[in-house]
Amino acid sequence: MYRLAMEMELGGTVANNSNGAVVEVEGPLKRVEAFAEELPRRLPPLARVSEMQHRDVAPRGETTFRIERSERAAERRPEVTPDAATCADCLRELFDPKDRRYRYPFINCTNCGPRYSIICTVPYDRPATTMAVFEFCEPCRREYEDPEDRRFHAQPNACPVCGPHLRLRLADASFAPGDPIAHAARMLSDGKVLAVKGIGGYHLACRADRQDVVELLRTRKLRDGKPLAVMVPDIDSARQICRLTSMDEDVLTSPAAPIVLAPKNEQHGLADSVAPQCRDFGVFLPYAPVHHLLFAEGLGPLVMTSANLAGQPLTYDDEDALATLSDVADGFLMHNRQIFRPIDDSVVFTFRESVMPIRRARGYAPRPIRLDQRILCSADTDRKILALGGELKSTVCLVHNGEATLSEHLGDLTNPDAYRNFVSAIDRLKELYEFTPDRLAYDLHPQYLSTHYARNSHIPAIAVQHHHAHIVSVMAEWGEPGPVVGLACDGVGYGTDGAAWGCEVLHCSPHSFQRLGHLDYFPQVGGNAAAIETWRPAAALLRQVQPEAWRETLLALDGDRTQTLTSDTLDRFERQAAARLNAPDSSSLGRVFDAVSFLLGLCERNRHEAEAAVALEAVAKLEPAEPYPYEVVERDGGISLSVLPAIVEIAAAAAGGAPVNQVSTRFHETIAAMLAGAARIACEITAVDTVGLSGGCFANRVLLTRLVELLKSRKLRVLYHRQVPCGDGGIALGQAVAACWSSARESES
Ligand SMILES: [Zn+2]
Ligand SMILES: [Zn+2]
Repeated sequence: MYRLAMEMELGGTVANNSNGAVVEVEGPLKRVEAFAEELPRRLPPLARVSEMQHRDVAPRGETTFRIERSERAAERRPEVTPDAATCADCLRELFDPKDRRYRYPFINCTNCGPRYSIICTVPYDRPATTMAVFEFCEPCRREYEDPEDRRFHAQPNACPVCGPHLRLRLADASFAPGDPIAHAARMLSDGKVLAVKGIGGYHLACRADRQDVVELLRTRKLRDGKPLAVMVPDIDSARQICRLTSMDEDVLTSPAAPIVLAPKNEQHGLADSVAPQCRDFGVFLPYAPVHHLLFAEGLGPLVMTSANLAGQPLTYDDEDALATLSDVADGFLMHNRQIFRPIDDSVVFTFRESVMPIRRARGYAPRPIRLDQRILCSADTDRKILALGGELKSTVCLVHNGEATLSEHLGDLTNPDAYRNFVSAIDRLKELYEFTPDRLAYDLHPQYLSTHYARNSHIPAIAVQHHHAHIVSVMAEWGEPGPVVGLACDGVGYGTDGAAWGCEVLHCSPHSFQRLGHLDYFPQVGGNAAAIETWRPAAALLRQVQPEAWRETLLALDGDRTQTLTSDTLDRFERQAAARLNAPDSSSLGRVFDAVSFLLGLCERNRHEAEAAVALEAVAKLEPAEPYPYEVVERDGGISLSVLPAIVEIAAAAAGGAPVNQVSTRFHETIAAMLAGAARIACEITAVDTVGLSGGCFANRVLLTRLVELLKSRKLRVLYHRQVPCGDGGIALGQAVAACWSSARESES
């Protein structure tokens, strides 16, 4: 604004307050109007105007233009920007021997660098960041104070004289002499595993092209099977390992610099154990100066995976890293800029013209999501709502005044450490936004730790059904007030009847929903074991069509997968299923994917969430195919969906040795056709023409692509996710919006 005002010879002032920027310009009317018009076109790369209001004020005779000190406003709606990847100008300086920041690993400017991860409080000024401990040298202060400079008010501004520095700590606790970057690069090149402190936490890094090295990392990290992200030196190397669309490339090179999921090339040259049984690699580009410096030493693609041991939160504190990762890393490339808010890398894929986040974190969080007035009931936008999400891929969401702030991915809330991390992340968010919730929203599931949090907080709390929250989250993104027909498909969500829901056809508004139909219940024999051992849902489904012969059908499958299935095991299963012992009803689509993955011999155990489904998707072709038989019928005023006819044919095809890619492709088509059929009936019954898709199953691109094509071919409008994850990382948004509508008397606390 300063530069533009100077250029246009206008007087006035500009200041930040916690609600945004306030600019007063004074001069001839034509030029003042031109200023307002020109401003949005002249924004720096990271700036974003969410709203602009202007009004006339009395002239004060200002002839010069000044930048005034930030003030704290009584009503705060601060916008905190996400962390941004190193910009092109900074990169040029980083590798310019004549620049005073030549090879300086903390170079940044107004257009790039850490933001959210280093902010302790607002307004966003240097003393409010973890950079407060570094005192500017003279040249850095001049840049910081000069409105004409690219580093004007760049809070993390620093140089080798005054800023943080990098050190390489070796296994014997000594620090490597000389250049830590060159030394670290040599270690990586030699096949060592390094812990590298970046923007939002520590990564574990190693060569991605050597099977022994990747296996070593896996063994040490106790993370069997999960695909590992690969950081490549540049976009050309990304193209060598993956098939990228031009949109993928745009997203990779954007300031958010997320991990992008893209199909592997046949000749990718990476170790098989990087992403076994996956269609995609998760690739990303260097986004912090330290990454650029490492690759400048000539390294090829590196595995760069969040440094957390299985199930634990991301490691970001130096002492913590040394304590927990000493058996994992051969060295620590660390620095003395504190990370205040740990934040994982984001994971996305591109779909049609949209970016679908799978994990929304660095680069995107905490960018606000504006809520359309139409989906909020106007009386209640004053409410301050904190929604607590679910259990897996946890996030929380703050809603106030029609704006939603979804937290970064906080991990799975399945152990005490993760829960502590969750509670502390909530406290930090409340502090940052000076947000005291007057209402909580949480999942209906009685055993989630987030439910425990809600019930123990002494704030009125509203329980929101899992799949209702899913569909409201996608409606909120599109500003769609509904009602819509919602297809909510995932592994499990607690139903209002206590069953494990997971393939739901809903007539859905922000405030309420009606369950129009669902996948026919089958018993989840063994409870949680049924989500891990994939033979269980296969047996449960087969048993429903073949009450006598299901054992023979299973045992007719050849290969290793039936070796563990002794007749004892199967008899016990039969008794449990018949007596309904630890065998709750389930309509989970996720379990159906598990069952088919088992029948095809692709995956016997889900060592991590959706492993079996990902393996099944990986062998499917993204093309129309002939569906197996399925049923979608209106029965007793509801829609009943059944995959049983398909399961029988698939079991027979598997026993007969049919090619897995053919069976998997047809299976995906079956599910897409079944869901599209159910949506069509639901739309007819309810006179609705909009279908919302949400739930973890829609991270499956073969299913998503075919289903959207089928729905569109029936002239239905389709809402899919573009800002928040389709999985449980998105439900906090839906919970918060639903809670805006609920009255206090519905409180369940
Ligand atoms: Zn920059
Ligand atoms: Zn300096």
